[in-house]
Amino acid sequence: MRGGILTREFPHRDERFQSHTALQITKMKQIVEKARQAYATGKTRSLDFRFQQLQALKRMMTDKEADIKAALKADLNKSECSAYSYEIMGMLGEINLALDKLHQWTAPQHVTKNLMTLTDEVYINYEPLGLVLIIGAWNYPLVVLLQPLVGAIAAGNAVVLKPSEVSENTAKLLEQIIPQYLDKELYPVINGGVAETTELLQQRFDHIFYTGNTHVGKIIMSAASKFLTPVTLELGGKSPCYIDKNCDIDIASRRITWGKFINCGQTCIAPDYILCDKSIQGQVVKKIKETLKEFYGDDVKQSPDYERIINKRHFKRLLGLMEGANVAHGGEHDEATCYIAPTVLTDVKPESMVMQEEIFGPLLPIVSVGNVEEAIQFINQREKPLALYVFSKDKKVIKKMISETSSGGVTANDVIMHFTVTELPFGGVGHSGMGSYHGKHTFDTFSHKRSCLIKSLAMEGVNKLRYPPNSPKKVEWAKFLLMNQVNKKKLSLLLLPLIGIVAAVIMKKYRWELAGRWLQLVLAFQKLRFKQD
Ligand code: NAD
Repeated sequence: MRGGILTREFPHRDERFQSHTALQITKMKQIVEKARQAYATGKTRSLDFRFQQLQALKRMMTDKEADIKAALKADLNKSECSAYSYEIMGMLGEINLALDKLHQWTAPQHVTKNLMTLTDEVYINYEPLGLVLIIGAWNYPLVVLLQPLVGAIAAGNAVVLKPSEVSENTAKLLEQIIPQYLDKELYPVINGGVAETTELLQQRFDHIFYTGNTHVGKIIMSAASKFLTPVTLELGGKSPCYIDKNCDIDIASRRITWGKFINCGQTCIAPDYILCDKSIQGQVVKKIKETLKEFYGDDVKQSPDYERIINKRHFKRLLGLMEGANVAHGGEHDEATCYIAPTVLTDVKPESMVMQEEIFGPLLPIVSVGNVEEAIQFINQREKPLALYVFSKDKKVIKKMISETSSGGVTANDVIMHFTVTELPFGGVGHSGMGSYHGKHTFDTFSHKRSCLIKSLAMEGVNKLRYPPNSPKKVEWAKFLLMNQVNKKKLSLLLLPLIGIVAAVIMKKYRWELAGRWLQLVLAFQKLRFKQD
């Protein structure tokens, strides 16, 4: 036990927080109101303030590393190494990136102009949305809550944080430590279960960022619609993994084994099931078995690197999915410790239980398909997944899979790894979610891109074009001025008449007439080029 926050030592698998009283709900409303008032003071507009808060968050990650690891161990049996690699390290990376890029991200972004606005200031200004709500899930309970927070702070918002009550040790720890580091009023943590979240959703926010399952995603979106609040929904789904016959099956199986069984299969972008030709199924199973032995030893249960199912509800749900399935490997389980061995199911029928919902556990079904076309058809007959994986030596097969399907993200010849590229937006499509985050994308998610045009009060003559009375000639000129964008290429074209003028001035000395014609020619050419573009 550290600091009295760990309410249960592993093994423990309680379900939900006790319901809060009416008094606590009133308190919750006050907290939200205070956060809104704190935002209204304008404190978060200052970049210095944002830097300060991000640095404090970074300090928290380092100072409280041991407590964080202990909470993750208690919630999911995460080893210290896993806790660091999959939660703490990613957070530090995101904070460092935000600290490094904050000036760049927040700088006004100047855009291409048209001829009408050539002399004006035209740019996008990134402004905070206001008070946002971030609701986390339990599988990576620290990172799914705090990674969006980094971008939300960088963008200058006030944030109400609602950790998942299912990973209760991490939730309690965050409620305790975040106010020690961040501004208490601007970034409050509210703990609670369904009742409290339902109440929280009655409040008005300027954005809701939700991570969790698709069913609750719909509840969130419906609650948000009351205030026309935009949402980001980071959901899940069944992420397929196609193994082509023309592939290094040993390497493919090894990489899939890693991605499927980390965090005991409770990873939103874990390969949910394998699609492959029946002729290679045996080889795939053999290699997965060998890899499991290499990764976790002879007795997986004793391995410090193998996590546990979060609670008994999910444990029972997973056993239910296995019913009637052909277990080619694994299947052992122990309810007292919520242990389920890494399990491979073969010759799985598309209509079987395990293929009806996201597995989110250590069960890996293999479904037979004859070729890549059949795999594509199988994928397209289902909801768009959060991730899609394809293994093949043939680039054409990979490109075909990418161009003929849709998913939140894709990794070819590996799994999970697109998640680690900060430049790539991470998020779902269709039933696997909407919106995205990571790195600059998180900053964008929590910013309003405000269009700004600053004109001078001079040159009123040009405006005659848009003022009545109208005429076809005015429309012609308006077309020319408004429909021509000014980029570098065109700017250089615009400079041409100038050069012409200079040339004319030089020539003036010698022959007036010749100079005038030269100028006319340049202007005509100029107008022609704009029309063509
Ligand atoms: P969960 O049970 O922790 O629920 C998530 C949040 O929703 C919690 O904070 C909870 O309090 C709240 N909630 C639950 N029921 C609610 C209700 N009726 N009304 C309002 N709020 C409610 O987590 P989960 O949903 O079991 O998480 C697993 C799912 O999340 C999987 O589908 C997984 O794929 C997905 N996931 C997605 C990502 C991603 O980045 N896309 C990351 C992690 C998990």
